[in-house]
Amino acid sequence: MSVNGHFANMGEKPTKEQYERGIQVINENQEFNPTLPNYLSFEKVSPAGFNYHLISVFGSQSTGKSTLLNYLFGTEFGVMAEDDRRQTTKGIWMSKNKKSHAVTDSKTMADNILVMDVEGTDGRERGEDQDFERKSALFALATSEVLIVNIWEHQVGLYQGANMGLLKVVFEVNLELFLKDKKSNPRSLLFFVIRDHLGTTPLANLRNTLIQDLTRIWSGLNKPPGLEKSKIGDYFDFAFAALPHKILQPDRFVSEVEKLGSRFREGFRDPRRDAFKSDQESDGVFLSEYHRRIPADGFSIYAQQVWDQIVNNKDLDLPTQQELMAQFRCDEISREVLEGFDETIIPFENKQAEGTRLGQLEVLGGLGAAMRTARMKTVKAFETEASRYHKGVYARKKGELESKIDGRLKVLFQGQLSAAHKSGVKDFSDAVSAAVKAGQKKGASYDFAEIVDREKKNALSKYDKEARGVLVEGAPWSSYKQEMSLYQKDLNEVSGRLRREEMRRLATRVERWVRSRLGELVGLEFNALGSGRGGSGAPETGERGSETEIWDRIWNVFIKTVQEAERRFTDRAKSFDASPGEVDVGLWRLRRKSWGVLRAKIDEEMMEGNLLLKLRENFEDKFRYDEAGVPRIWRPTDDIEGIYTKARESTLTLIPLLSRFQSSHTSTPPPLDDWIGNAPPEATPADEEDLTPIGGVDEEEGKSLEEEMLILSDAKKQDVTTRFKKTADGVYVEAKRSAIGGMTQ
Ligand code: GDP
Ligand code: MG
Repeated sequence: MSVNGHFANMGEKPTKEQYERGIQVINENQEFNPTLPNYLSFEKVSPAGFNYHLISVFGSQSTGKSTLLNYLFGTEFGVMAEDDRRQTTKGIWMSKNKKSHAVTDSKTMADNILVMDVEGTDGRERGEDQDFERKSALFALATSEVLIVNIWEHQVGLYQGANMGLLKVVFEVNLELFLKDKKSNPRSLLFFVIRDHLGTTPLANLRNTLIQDLTRIWSGLNKPPGLEKSKIGDYFDFAFAALPHKILQPDRFVSEVEKLGSRFREGFRDPRRDAFKSDQESDGVFLSEYHRRIPADGFSIYAQQVWDQIVNNKDLDLPTQQELMAQFRCDEISREVLEGFDETIIPFENKQAEGTRLGQLEVLGGLGAAMRTARMKTVKAFETEASRYHKGVYARKKGELESKIDGRLKVLFQGQLSAAHKSGVKDFSDAVSAAVKAGQKKGASYDFAEIVDREKKNALSKYDKEARGVLVEGAPWSSYKQEMSLYQKDLNEVSGRLRREEMRRLATRVERWVRSRLGELVGLEFNALGSGRGGSGAPETGERGSETEIWDRIWNVFIKTVQEAERRFTDRAKSFDASPGEVDVGLWRLRRKSWGVLRAKIDEEMMEGNLLLKLRENFEDKFRYDEAGVPRIWRPTDDIEGIYTKARESTLTLIPLLSRFQSSHTSTPPPLDDWIGNAPPEATPADEEDLTPIGGVDEEEGKSLEEEMLILSDAKKQDVTTRFKKTADGVYVEAKRSAIGGMTQ
């Protein structure tokens, strides 16, 4: 800080020495000191809210103003050396009352009194700059509760004197302000301190003289339209005090100043008082109605704005200034409280952003508590600091702050829900699979539906807990109903998928059973061919003639086996809540697959080697054994050729019989198409993906049911016939030989 037109930087740390004499708020170049906030925090006034007071002193040059303030408030404003009558105070200085609690009698001074020492108004040395008088008066009126008017006793009654000029300015300026601010312009106290009071004229008389002068000034004012009838008492209260000569009566001066000092405390308006009769010598001067209602931490910015308007000769509109200040301060407070918010919240935001980036969003521990605390603290801190400002601005800025933090918290909230959703679905799927695996290991039949039910309940309650954990009271998004129902939907989808997988496993098990069962039963049927007389393999018929009904029997065995399999499948599938549609699809697939199993089994039995073996056995059985099943011993007299031919022809009938799977009664293929049925409407493409097409069932195959039932092609039949005949011939030759051999023996 300096007195020659340059202010220290805002950033510099204030020192005790620097502020010993207070701070120059306005310098002689009419510049406002931007470091005022530093001073107010140095003096610990900033956090005081409304608990502070502002006093300005006015008066002619060198009337002992600074001296008075120093005695009253323990300040150290510069005073003129007694032997050098030059102006000392330049611009406007401010200092905090240093005497707050130093008053002797029980009447302690008010807290945080800030005193402004205003450059003398009729400065001989600044005559060229008359407008500073007006500017400083405006500034003082816009800020101060009490204006001390310092005046020599011998100036009282000199109506044309400099003081009266000053008062005229003050009144005019006040009307100017009042025009713009009809609602809130507070009253001010004009406190006349009469110096060098000789005592010959009582204070009461001096007061009357002053009141007459003031009234005269007021009535002589050019009042703006609408305010012509206004009275001085509408705007000002008046108080009067007299002090003895400082140099001639130094002791009395000190004690009277002390008495005067005790009046700078909170006061209350007596309803019977009026503006002029209000003054009781012992009353507190700070009435709440004088207070400008500028919160202490906003005072600097308010004062600066006001001064800028004054200096630039703009209309000073205090309500607007107060709103601007409120905006400025509320923004500042917002930024301050957001710092604390950031400190807590940014680490979570970073973690979540990182998780999203890597595609590994995780549930963040401690997030909910952090969110709630951060919101509560931030809003509370804002309320504490900002609620003193203009109500409308405060409410708007609070809304802005809340929506800012709620917006950020909402992102965190939803991120957490997504993470809980993702991990919940995965955990659910894993838990069900693990339980199924454990059930399979034990071998016992496990209850799939029960597992799903239990794990779903787990998953839902876990999600609910996570979601509830990040609810924040007061935030407008505190609901997760929709997210919960999406989660539930996904769980249902997953459990549907798991159930279908479980159905597949079941289907595979049942198919395996079908394969082994058919392998056994159909094998027996074919083996029975080898006996040539039917046999133990086909107990249902047991007749030789039943060879022709082999396909009827195989079809029946097939149908029965699959029926049993269907029953097993249905029972089990129902136990885990498969829908009727899903069961239908499973059964449909089972029938198709079973047909594939049977077809493969038949193809295996009909492989050339197997078939030839069966034919040969069949033939040998018919040729070598008689009707009673006794082996023949060939004699030369036997009709070997006749028996041979009969047996061979009988066996040869098997080849066309075996070449087609058809009913022995109708010579038509079994009703495979009807039996399998159409694909159920519930079947999905995935259900059909791994199925082998079946002729006559899947039309687009272009293969008829007859073709599906064709077991041996004509060429194959020809080939097998030729080879069988050769084998039979061999057996015949051998028999012939043995007959001759038996004869020679
Ligand atoms: P300011 O210009 O109004 O601030 O006046 P100062 O406080 O600088 O004082 C101007 C001169 O008046 C100084 O020489 C003071 O010693 C002197 N002075 C201060 N108080 C009194 C007083 O009560 N009576 C008289 N006669 N002189 C005083
Ligand atoms: Mg001075």
